[in-house]
Amino acid sequence: MPTKKRSAAGYEQQKNYIREWQKRNKSRLAERSRIQRQEMRRTALCHYGGTPPRCYCCGTRYEQHLTIAAMEGENLSGSTGLSGTNLYRKLARENYPAGYRVLCWNCLMARTFYSACSHLSAGDPAHHLLDQSREEDRQAV
Ligand SMILES: [Zn+2]
Ligand SMILES: [Zn+2]
Repeated sequence: MPTKKRSAAGYEQQKNYIREWQKRNKSRLAERSRIQRQEMRRTALCHYGGTPPRCYCCGTRYEQHLTIAAMEGENLSGSTGLSGTNLYRKLARENYPAGYRVLCWNCLMARTFYSACSHLSAGDPAHHLLDQSREEDRQAV
């Protein structure tokens, strides 16, 4: 049956076409999902860390250095147990629930391993930033 044959060939052709298209657009697709991930990350950082986002502890504004830390009452308990995209996806899905703060990796590691960051010690030049950002947080609520 010629019609059947043609449609089977057509199907095969279509499959090849899609495969080719994906191959050609692979880098473009990867680039697009990279940008989407970046936007998701930025939205979460701005939500929890202000615009532009900054570390809750030391006040650094280098966006590449920032991440999200979980709160436990008044304390930052440190790691959320989720990394990167999974965390940002979860926060977006739950419409950015309370209980998170933006920290830089240095401050997060200090809190995770030493349960406190040295920025908290009095006399640290960054200390005023902490108070300042807390004050702004209070006003934002
Ligand atoms: Zn910091
Ligand atoms: Zn710190």
